[in-house]
Amino acid sequence: NKYEQLTGLDQKHFLHPTTSIKQQQATGPDFIFTEGKGVRLYDMKGRSAIDGLSSLWNVNIGHGREEIAQTAYEQMKTLGYSSCFATYSNEPAIRLAAKLAEIAPGDLSATFFTSGGSESNDTAYKLARHYWILKGQPERKKIISRSKSYHGVAMGATSATGLKPFRDFTNSNAPDFCYVDHFSREALRQTIEKEGPETVAAFIAEPVQGAGGLHIAPEGFFAEIRSICDEYGILFITDEVITGFGRTGTYFGMDHYGVAPDMMCFAKGVTSGYAQLGGVMISEKMHKDFIQLSEGTLLHGYTYSGHPMACAVALKNLEILERENLIQNARVMGEELLKGFQRIQSERGIVGNVRALGLMGAVEIVKNKETNERFAEPLAPKIVGEAARRGLICRSVVFDGQDTLVFAPPLIINQEEINELISILNDAIEAVETGIPV
Ligand code: PLP
Repeated sequence: NKYEQLTGLDQKHFLHPTTSIKQQQATGPDFIFTEGKGVRLYDMKGRSAIDGLSSLWNVNIGHGREEIAQTAYEQMKTLGYSSCFATYSNEPAIRLAAKLAEIAPGDLSATFFTSGGSESNDTAYKLARHYWILKGQPERKKIISRSKSYHGVAMGATSATGLKPFRDFTNSNAPDFCYVDHFSREALRQTIEKEGPETVAAFIAEPVQGAGGLHIAPEGFFAEIRSICDEYGILFITDEVITGFGRTGTYFGMDHYGVAPDMMCFAKGVTSGYAQLGGVMISEKMHKDFIQLSEGTLLHGYTYSGHPMACAVALKNLEILERENLIQNARVMGEELLKGFQRIQSERGIVGNVRALGLMGAVEIVKNKETNERFAEPLAPKIVGEAARRGLICRSVVFDGQDTLVFAPPLIINQEEINELISILNDAIEAVETGIPV
């Protein structure tokens, strides 16, 4: 039958991103998705599941939006593609750049477009280094990032990623990257001093660390980071690839901290995943410096920088986000999600710390609630499996001895759907806790 045929072709021809090749060969795909509607995904076997991670933290406005499809269709019919190199431009790209300047933190005012988060990160590092060349400080090359950070898989982005297994995937990474403990201001200061402030181009951080286990910075943290960067004249880059566009209950994650970066990477939620788009914003000051100091050509650009269809989709996505008050909904439903986690925490013996900021949340699995001791073999992956069988898709994080479940449902989620998510999660944890598969 068709399902078996597709499974065979998948195993033979499809090299999946971020996957266990052995498992793919043993079982084939768990789900072959065919449709998405609202917070739910449907597969070829007729099963449905709540998309508890908005797929890859990106489907913010939910699945199956006809308005977006219509926008993409109209744009592709009129102008499917044109270049933005040199003196060429197009209306959706221009309007999106202007819209982003309106909503972004601080004085971020000009956008360089890419096709995703990894390209955005590599672009940010290159623009930062080029900026220092223009400013007459070419020795400022080093990029400092944090432990437990994830910045993507392009060569620069992987090299900045604090999660070591990603860097160990190859035996060679890009030079001039260094790492500091994720919440230590002192470590940042010491690293800058040790490396020599005159050799540091930028410090990069996610407002809330996502892929590394969902770590929320304490209040005041980024204000201190900003002042350390200012003290040493270092550029501060925020990676809002996950936290941008409403995810945490504010337009951008950094809005919680009231801090403006010099540069900001974005992707994912800018189109809610309906088109491949990312970008880097730079401050008005940096932009003015570029205009004043740049003599030759800005020798950095992707074929799809400023893709008209992707930009048109992004504009429509932002219109929906605002029209339906989804950022406000993320804040309100985020509180309900956290309350649900807390209920599970009080009912289940193996749930430790729970946390959420807007609709970005985590549940830690522990052997001992008092001491925070972990199980020798992490249980979160098993819980993910039990949840999937019951109709909830989520993710486990087991890097660095963690045993954590992470969640980021679409920003359209309502109370009833939160209750369903929590109920399935509770059942899945109970099934693993009691060791009785259902
Ligand atoms: N930065 C952050 C914070 C991310 O979470 C991700 C992806 O999850 C990336 C960058 C990489 O983005 P992409 O997968 O679109 O290249």
